Amino acid sequence: MLLRGGLLAALDPISLEGADLRIVDGRIAQRARGLAAAPGEEALDLRGGLVLPGLVNAHTHLYSALARGMGAPALPPRNFVEILERVWWRLDRALDEEGVYLSALVGGIEAALSGTTLLVDHHSSPSFIRGSLGTIRRALEEVGLRSALCYEVTDRNGPGGRDAGLQENRDFAAHASELTSGLIGAHASFTLSEEAMGLLSEAVAASGRGVHIHVAEDRADALDCRARYGESVPERLMRHGLLPRALLAHCVHLSGDEVAGVHAHGAWIAHNPRSNMNNHVGYAPTPALRRAALGTDGMDGDMLAEARAAFLKMRDAGRDDAFSATLELLAGGHRLAAALLGLPFGKLDTGGPADLVVLDYDPPTPLDGGNLGGHLLFGIDRSHVASVMVAGRWVVRDRRVVNVEVEQAYARAREAARRLWERMAAL
Ligand SMILES: [Zn+2]
Repeated sequence: MLLRGGLLAALDPISLEGADLRIVDGRIAQRARGLAAAPGEEALDLRGGLVLPGLVNAHTHLYSALARGMGAPALPPRNFVEILERVWWRLDRALDEEGVYLSALVGGIEAALSGTTLLVDHHSSPSFIRGSLGTIRRALEEVGLRSALCYEVTDRNGPGGRDAGLQENRDFAAHASELTSGLIGAHASFTLSEEAMGLLSEAVAASGRGVHIHVAEDRADALDCRARYGESVPERLMRHGLLPRALLAHCVHLSGDEVAGVHAHGAWIAHNPRSNMNNHVGYAPTPALRRAALGTDGMDGDMLAEARAAFLKMRDAGRDDAFSATLELLAGGHRLAAALLGLPFGKLDTGGPADLVVLDYDPPTPLDGGNLGGHLLFGIDRSHVASVMVAGRWVVRDRRVVNVEVEQAYARAREAARRLWERMAAL
């Protein structure tokens, strides 16, 4: 396939150039100006449309997709741990196979329509553990998206739940597909015993995949670790050999030096500003973030909205370099994706994966490589996403999801959500 006349953007480093792309077998086979279609080759004229590399959501929970509009718990949570106990740990226990599938399907549809082509998901469904990651993969591959999936290992559901979660991670990590790979999931230090940490360490060593874990999202996690083990959460992870290749979500209650330390040991950090504001847990030490990317933590699949919130939160905190720091976090998503899936994401260059977003954005002011960031953070949003391609296949075309009947999926999801909320009320 030939995509002609696009205005191709890159974020790492930021650039903008008009060029044609020839796509063969899911990769960009050629990038040049004035390419002519070969006999029988499909050619599409993008007429100067802005093309972005597909966006990456570095930390999300698709299982929360059916929670939108759900009533508040009878007893209002007073802090973060109570939010988990009264909302999310009841929701995850109430999830069955159909709920897991439909959550991933509608979450995937929303991500695709927002130009997000790769989801790093962190899953939990204690009543349906075995096969849960394969169920999410089925839904996301139906939509046509890439993902890195894991199951949340924890001691909060007893040794049976812990071991089933570990096994699910190990089984899944051994069977990567073209679009989907695995990580070793873990909840957070405060729900993981020493034995569980040891088992996670074994799973990481056996699979060669990093751990994906919440770190110091709330002060309670940092205080618990200090009280029980006399060390910080990063020190505990390091003692178990879990920092290299790790993806640490949040790190709100780490110091700048601790962030530098985990980066030095090869860990990535997912920054989730909207979720952190929503849960009132505090603000991550963003000036120290280096190997870092943005995640939505289950709020939605909209990375352009997350980027704008990240930018505004940095500005509100008085950062003068918020602009470049936010673009750096978006680019960080591509670097993380490259580390997880072994492909050069984010470049739209020869040899790179054909994961891209065509925007229907008619700039009301001049647009060039020098001010692309201004257009991204102050003008462009998900309403401009016209078409999305993943691995050379259209996932969204002219604002319509290509591979899934959206109305039908949403109707099924509404029914499943109603039943899920009823089960939750009965728990
Ligand atoms: Zn999370």
